[in-house]
Amino acid sequence: MNLHQKHKLTKVINAAGPFTPVGVSRSSKNVSESVATALSEYFIIDELLDVANNALCNLTNAESGTITHCTASSITLAVAATMTGCNQDKISALPSINNMPNRVILPVGHSINYGHSILQAIKLSGAQPVLVGSELQCSLSDIEKELSNKKTACLLLVTSRLTKGVLVDLFNAVKIAHQHNIPVIIDAAAQDMRIDELLSTKADLVLISAQKYLASPTTGVVIGDKELVKAVRDQGKGIGRTMKVTKESICGVLAAIEDRTNSDSKEWTHKQNKKISNFIQSIDNLPGIIVKAVPDSSGMPFSRVHLIVDPIISKIDATELAKQLKNNTPSIWVIESMALENQLVLELVFLTKEELQTIKTCLKENLIK
Ligand SMILES: *Cc1c(COP(=O)(O)O)cnc(C)c1O
Repeated sequence: MNLHQKHKLTKVINAAGPFTPVGVSRSSKNVSESVATALSEYFIIDELLDVANNALCNLTNAESGTITHCTASSITLAVAATMTGCNQDKISALPSINNMPNRVILPVGHSINYGHSILQAIKLSGAQPVLVGSELQCSLSDIEKELSNKKTACLLLVTSRLTKGVLVDLFNAVKIAHQHNIPVIIDAAAQDMRIDELLSTKADLVLISAQKYLASPTTGVVIGDKELVKAVRDQGKGIGRTMKVTKESICGVLAAIEDRTNSDSKEWTHKQNKKISNFIQSIDNLPGIIVKAVPDSSGMPFSRVHLIVDPIISKIDATELAKQLKNNTPSIWVIESMALENQLVLELVFLTKEELQTIKTCLKENLIK
């Protein structure tokens, strides 16, 4: 009996991308076996973290790396690190800030909500977010105005399809912050295939969710400046205790890094493109639906399938179609953020042939009547 049968759980087909409410991603056999083995063993956790540091440096060419419970934790701990450095008294004091600098500069359009507001993740450390620019745009001078304030701890930037407005010039934003001796953190949770590009901005810390496209157990990867990475790790004896990483997830990340190292990125992209074009071809003639492939807006190397619904012809609007997909057995989850504009978005990265077939059948049942 599998877990779904045993506990009477809803079987899900996840076409919504690395979405936390449905379990994010699908790990490889290598990852699940490493996790299972780790659970019944003891380790010296510091030794495991040292090994993770080496593996992350080899994978990314970063100066240093460590792992936390997840990226939401990494945001809190990275901000804390810029406030405390490796000073244990300061680490123990948080979230009381005493005399530490605690202002975190964040462009308004980067004030995202990934299940909770990023502002709360910042504030958990004792820091105060200072929003700059507008929803539409944040210029370098908007950022610069706040950098000279003596209470500024860091500049936080986000690269994600959840951000709003004109893209902030990451490279020059980092440069300006450094001219003021202010460290920069980039939240790049779902952008692990762009690490080279993001590190080349010289940001001090780059944060990645290893459970997203790396498909490890839930963990936050933090890479970058050696001193700051150490300061993140040292938060384990402070507020980081509530966000600790476990032996099994460290071993899972190590296996996921192995998988990534052994995979050919060109071949991966080619496979994804083929999966998308085959799927689009197979659902091309549905009444009232225009289907197209749209490349990821933040530069990850794959596209998603957009279904543009004309409810007059299809006799069902996007919101109702999403509801019907969810009511299917298994329950099909898609990205609904554009449903009010009558668009549904499907991410196929982790889907199997059989799952794609089920989605196709369900779409036909709801559209051809
Ligand atoms: C997913 C995500 C997060 C949260 O990551 P977790 O690892 O789930 O805590 C933060 N920021 C962005 C941009 C994300 O996409």
